[in-house]
Amino acid sequence: SGYGYVSIEKQRQRLPVFKYRMAILYLVETHATTIVVGETGSGKTTQIPQFLKEAGWADGGRVIACTQPRRLAVQAVASRVSEEMGVKLGEEVGYTIRFEDLTDRVTQDSTRIKFLTDGVLLREMMEDPLLTKYSVIMVDEAHERSISTDVLLGLLKKIQRRRPELRLIISSATIEAKSMAAFFHTSKKRRGLEGEDCVPKTEPAILSVEGRGFNVQIFYVEEPVSDYIQAAVSTVMSIHDQEPMGDILVFLTGQDDIDAAVRLLTEEAQNNRKSSSGLVVLPLYSGLSRADQDLVFSPIPRGKRKVVISTNIAETSLTLEGVSYVVDSGFSKQRFYNPISDIENLVVAPISKASARQRAGRAGRVRPGKCYRLYSEEYFVKEMSAEGIPEMQRSNLVSCVIQGCSGALEGCLLNMEGILDIRVGRRDKLKALGIDNILGFDWPASPSPEAMIRALEVLYSLGVLDDDAKLTSPAGFQVAEIPLEPMVSKMILASNQLGCSEEIITIAAILSIQSIWISVRGQQKDLDEAKLRFAAAEGDHVSFLNVYKGFLRSGKSPKWCNKNFVNYQAMRKVVEIREQLKRIAQRIGIVLKSCESDMQVVRKAVTAGFFANACNLEAFSHNGMYKTIRSSQEVYIHPSSVLFRVNPKWVIYNSLVSTDRQYMRNVISINPS
Ligand code: ADP
Ligand code: MG
Repeated sequence: SGYGYVSIEKQRQRLPVFKYRMAILYLVETHATTIVVGETGSGKTTQIPQFLKEAGWADGGRVIACTQPRRLAVQAVASRVSEEMGVKLGEEVGYTIRFEDLTDRVTQDSTRIKFLTDGVLLREMMEDPLLTKYSVIMVDEAHERSISTDVLLGLLKKIQRRRPELRLIISSATIEAKSMAAFFHTSKKRRGLEGEDCVPKTEPAILSVEGRGFNVQIFYVEEPVSDYIQAAVSTVMSIHDQEPMGDILVFLTGQDDIDAAVRLLTEEAQNNRKSSSGLVVLPLYSGLSRADQDLVFSPIPRGKRKVVISTNIAETSLTLEGVSYVVDSGFSKQRFYNPISDIENLVVAPISKASARQRAGRAGRVRPGKCYRLYSEEYFVKEMSAEGIPEMQRSNLVSCVIQGCSGALEGCLLNMEGILDIRVGRRDKLKALGIDNILGFDWPASPSPEAMIRALEVLYSLGVLDDDAKLTSPAGFQVAEIPLEPMVSKMILASNQLGCSEEIITIAAILSIQSIWISVRGQQKDLDEAKLRFAAAEGDHVSFLNVYKGFLRSGKSPKWCNKNFVNYQAMRKVVEIREQLKRIAQRIGIVLKSCESDMQVVRKAVTAGFFANACNLEAFSHNGMYKTIRSSQEVYIHPSSVLFRVNPKWVIYNSLVSTDRQYMRNVISINPS
């Protein structure tokens, strides 16, 4: 694409944001909050932290932070920035995501620019509520409105009152800049005089970076497509046959459909050598190994065409060079929570018009491009909503409340339209924030009172919050200390008393990754057989323990993994996460102990965490229908569970997936007494 021989310095100077270097530095100097709006690829994420560092914001041991909602984006941008600066990743430029810290851990003080997920930054507040080591915090991708971003923005607004010298940059591709500015405009008087010396103005500055985006021609299908994976594959093939060179970016929804599309395209290439020989097909989703991630950004041989099949991570978080064609399925995976049924699902749902426009824009970065929408124009105009709904308004708030309680929402009072008036948590070092009253706590998007009540109920029943909705001591604080969902953390706490912490920590580690199995289409039968070798009568959790034991017994052998359809990379990750969880557990006073073969206590520990997900088999059900105890919802055991078709009378599940029905994933049988 002509880029290959341009020096990295030249590439930097060509970015739209480069022209705004002085303006950005001036605004950051003089304003507490600067909002930067600029098109994807204009250089916000990779350049602004470097500008800040060059201008001295990281001098004197201070650190510049840049948050991202997605782990994969954190890794990719950190690696790009370290490359641009010519330094080794993990030293001057580092990153932290949950269970992975690639900053300078040895001397603790060489990392000057740190990329991290917004969730990790929230966790850091537990140690350091005012985030004192950071001079500038750039909250990136704010338009995504992830739950952690919103909690973070709410808390940073509080922190700013205590630390007038702290600078915030809020950056985004599409943000409604005015409402964000209004959110950050505090009328409260602060120490010092505005505009004088180092005291910046409270009114946020807004800067728009003019992008260059080329024209993108949009094509729609006439009739709705019934299978968007197949439709995406045929569209890629016809682009490849008929259109001039230029890479193709396809938006699907998740690992399953992306893997399926990659396979179909690869098969096409084998059956039809002539037309598809020049294709290099690559998947892009979180959970890919580092090597596979890097492939997506690497140049391919001349004369070949790259096809990247991605989740919405490539919508605005990551920039791929050389894309001229976009194929948009019109869907993404989104979290939806219904506080009445108390069911949260990750479902494939239509994207918003704003997302569709972003996706199309990815085709016009370097020259005019084309976008093929796998939905009709009528559908776009009439059915798609203008904007997405902030995640906070469509999520279960259990984790969010505990993060708030344990982190900076110390002593907060929740008052949702007079329904709740509850005091939560109390720790002296958090007093610094002065959040005694969540009456005055602003969220960029208010959560629903029902969802808030449900979350408080669950936390209360877990023994994490007391009658006054304060974090209990020590249980509440211990749960808050573990970087996992409160229900999983509670399970770990319970295992301490039950004498099975070794086993439960293994289970927690396995539950925190997507899957430990290799799934290859067409080999479902072999996979099912392999699973049977590990199947335990108690259910999936105990089967996981069997897999883990087998893996250790094999000497962590990749060969053993392949033979048993176990994903070797995933198991290595499990071992790593397990080590970290062990360290955290020990720090909060959990004694590591194995229950050997007493699986009854393992069941008890799982129950202690997940009792809210208990279900009962319908008495005369012929098709394995269960009802949830809490809200009488109809649910079924997922075919991937070892308890599928076994249908014990009482079960507990970890999560639900919804397709044609609500399916329970990771199920264990219980015998209530
Ligand atoms: P923004 O945050 O405004 O969307 P970025 O700072 O992420 O923009 O990207 C700016 C430019 O840096 C991109 O257009 C691309 O050319 C380059 N770039 C970013 N990440 C990578 C990467 N991992 N590999 C190669 N080039 C990259
Ligand atoms: Mg960016």
